[in-house]
Amino acid sequence: MPSLSHTATIRMAKTRKRRSALAILVALALVVLLVSPAQASMNKLRIFERDGQTIIVSQDVGNQAFPYQWVENDPRRHPADGLTLHYRIDLTELPPGISAAETEAAVEAAVATFNREACNHNMQLVRMPSDPGANLGWVQGQIFGTGSPAAPTADITFAGWVEDEFWLAVDPNAFAIALPVLFHADGSSWIWGYDAFDPDQPATDINNDGKRDLFATEIYFRRNANYVLDDDDLGNTLFYIDLESIVLHELGHALGMDHFGRTSVILDENGDLVDVIINENSGNVMNTNNYFVRRELRGSDRASFCQLYANWGQG
Ligand SMILES: [Zn+2]
Repeated sequence: MPSLSHTATIRMAKTRKRRSALAILVALALVVLLVSPAQASMNKLRIFERDGQTIIVSQDVGNQAFPYQWVENDPRRHPADGLTLHYRIDLTELPPGISAAETEAAVEAAVATFNREACNHNMQLVRMPSDPGANLGWVQGQIFGTGSPAAPTADITFAGWVEDEFWLAVDPNAFAIALPVLFHADGSSWIWGYDAFDPDQPATDINNDGKRDLFATEIYFRRNANYVLDDDDLGNTLFYIDLESIVLHELGHALGMDHFGRTSVILDENGDLVDVIINENSGNVMNTNNYFVRRELRGSDRASFCQLYANWGQG
């Protein structure tokens, strides 16, 4: 991963405002997370010093999408309802201080936002029943043995709010991640995580759309954070994360959407936050920075989503 995160982490570890710094860092880490090598030129990250301040500018342009995508009516998934994407929710690893019912409500609100989008005629996200005691998460199982030993049963799994040990292995600075799992050409195994971006990995593209085929996506969130449900509590500060907003952002990734938008973060010589400047055109759900309330799709979100799904199910 780019050196930004690690350099900044060292700087900020020395400061008293470490918590706010961490919020910035994890947000910034989303800039660099899951960026396709093929699209690297579209995702620009610049860091420079000016008058003793460090300025970090991230800019993602265009209606970006990942180099992998769901195949409609994929015979390898569930062809009987092949235009549907199934999702499950892990109810064993909840955000701290938030109930299962509240977590489900936040996820379902985010799901509804994509399901009702005007350009979306044929793709629906449909929930699969959750076993309340099932710790979902195949990748988590691969890494730690916790999570699930079984391959994902849903297309999209909200696999839980998990401990820092998981993040040390996956990305030390990330807040949340949508990890892709692709079909391997051998027909019996999968390519997952960052390998999904490696063009040398033999993933399939059965519909010849130029994108490798998704078998599943697992979404994980960092447990060690302050999630809130009511945007009145959030107050657009950097200290809290609106649960529905971050779920909506990660669900966008699970649907194949990448980041866009421009943000500048300014740090003083101690690594303390001075300012965050978000371009007025960058207030999208899929902006890299997700610490504001973003519960509705905006212009670039719609363009990106519709590019992927407006013709879904029409051959
Ligand atoms: Zn993101």
